[in-house]
Amino acid sequence: MKYSLDAFIKDPKIAYFSMEIGVRSDMATYSGGLGVLAGDTIKSTADLKLPVVAVTLLTKKGYFRQELDAYGRQTELPDEFDPQRFMIQLDERVTVRIEGRDVLIGAWVYLVESATSGKVPIFFLDADLAENAPQDREITHCLYGGDNDYRLKQEIVLGIGGTRMLEELGFQIRKYHMNEGHSSLLILELLKRYKKDIEEVWDENLVWDIEKVRSLCVFTTHTPVAAGHDKFSYETVQRIMGDIIPLNAVKEFAGKDSLNLTLLALNLSNYINGVAKKHGEVSKGMFPGYAINAITNGVHSFTWTCESFKRIYDKYLPGWANEPEIFVRVGRIPDNELWEAHMEAKKQLVDYINRETQAGMNYDTFTIGFARRATAYKRADLLFSDIDRLTRMAEGRLQIVYAGKAHPHDESGKQLIQRIYEVKDRLKDKIRIVFLKNYNMDIALKITSGVDVWLNTPLRPLEASGTSGMKAAHNGVPNFSVLDGWWIEGHIEGYSGWAIGPSPDVPADPARDADDLYNKLENIIMPMFYSEKHLWVRIMQNAIGKNAYYFNSHRMMRRYVTEAYIR
Ligand SMILES: *Cc1c(COP(=O)(O)O)cnc(C)c1O
Repeated sequence: MKYSLDAFIKDPKIAYFSMEIGVRSDMATYSGGLGVLAGDTIKSTADLKLPVVAVTLLTKKGYFRQELDAYGRQTELPDEFDPQRFMIQLDERVTVRIEGRDVLIGAWVYLVESATSGKVPIFFLDADLAENAPQDREITHCLYGGDNDYRLKQEIVLGIGGTRMLEELGFQIRKYHMNEGHSSLLILELLKRYKKDIEEVWDENLVWDIEKVRSLCVFTTHTPVAAGHDKFSYETVQRIMGDIIPLNAVKEFAGKDSLNLTLLALNLSNYINGVAKKHGEVSKGMFPGYAINAITNGVHSFTWTCESFKRIYDKYLPGWANEPEIFVRVGRIPDNELWEAHMEAKKQLVDYINRETQAGMNYDTFTIGFARRATAYKRADLLFSDIDRLTRMAEGRLQIVYAGKAHPHDESGKQLIQRIYEVKDRLKDKIRIVFLKNYNMDIALKITSGVDVWLNTPLRPLEASGTSGMKAAHNGVPNFSVLDGWWIEGHIEGYSGWAIGPSPDVPADPARDADDLYNKLENIIMPMFYSEKHLWVRIMQNAIGKNAYYFNSHRMMRRYVTEAYIR
């Protein structure tokens, strides 16, 4: 179909590149935090009418749909969606070289439309075209699927194909924002495009207009562990990508021994940031010599506020959705209405759980939520460190809601889910525990708004930011969390929520974390919930007024504009 992008190509744009972008639950173009953050980012740019376009992969077979058997053993099924339900396929085509073949790349456009009338297009790149060889048609099918070769092919399509597609569509781009290193091959395309026009040079590397390319690039890193950064041997690079620019130049910018996408982005970006203050510091330690800033993540307020809270915000804090700073006036909401809005959300969650699992949960029992990727460092089982102690203090007075997918190759993540199932069965009559399968954005909203406390127990300093706790705060649900990522900035003890374990300046100590978790739960949090409801509502209020007020993607995008984009 011929689709007119005229309204968008008038002025220069900031191009936001991300391997995954999650805009809605039924479009499986995301796996977790990174993709949901990207979706929230784009929604805020549309609300704020920023001159942005976004580029990602179509991945119409999704990440995976999670099935769990009676023992909590995970199997992965395809999670397909039909792009025609949501997007328009464009006629434009570009070509990338992969394994010596010309691979045609098309695009679908999804329009994020804001209530403010702002519109931002997301281009979903698609290699599944009849002209392509069968193996190439699969390149953009599965998010984080396949092997190392498959990943590099996807990154060629995203970075190089995406940059060419924007040009083909007629966009002028004034900044390329790489959301994580997956898209940094776009830098090679820019180096080639802006090559200096010099006839004879002594050193071949002098022809690269490094300053020009650098002035165009913004890089956000999300990963606080070295192993999390994509690397490819030059043998693989040569075989699959060939020469976009000569190999010796690639080595100069992306690493002598292997092509490191993070290094490439670090070397050629004008602005680099981590996703929370602490993560900025950790990244400086990992990459000495680079100027690394920090812009703490946020969530899209309207998306992550449940219906009952939208209603009281509309009534007492009109304008909140496009100006979350208005949460500063949260004290205008009467305590009883705040509590009733919470109980409405909690009832919806409990009803949903009882329908899905026959767990027999009830509305009045204190309920903890824990939902995120199932992987070892997140320690979903920290709460089970001493099951007898947990039972003694909480029997009949506690319910726990879990959810989360383990990456198909993450064996210890999968075992964590089985461990939760084991404890769930063992404590059946004492503490009700449920594990909701197939965690996605819909379930995330239900759980973050419907529980009484949001628990997070990462092993420091491995949580770069974390965003689910910010969703909870938008629904008046206080955080109870290890002091890592965003919570270092959001936490005021006994006021906006509670910390687990010591200050972030001292080394991590798992035994102390568990002890602190039990102590506070038994002596502070549960007693306040059951016997001092007026104090409890104060904390709920502060979660909104202190946490949702700040940890939203509108504030985050305003900072990207003033600190990264206008430079
Ligand atoms: C928000 C969200 C995440 C990120 O949660 P963290 O606690 O930041 O890890 C992951 N998956 C889904 C579906 C989400 O909605």
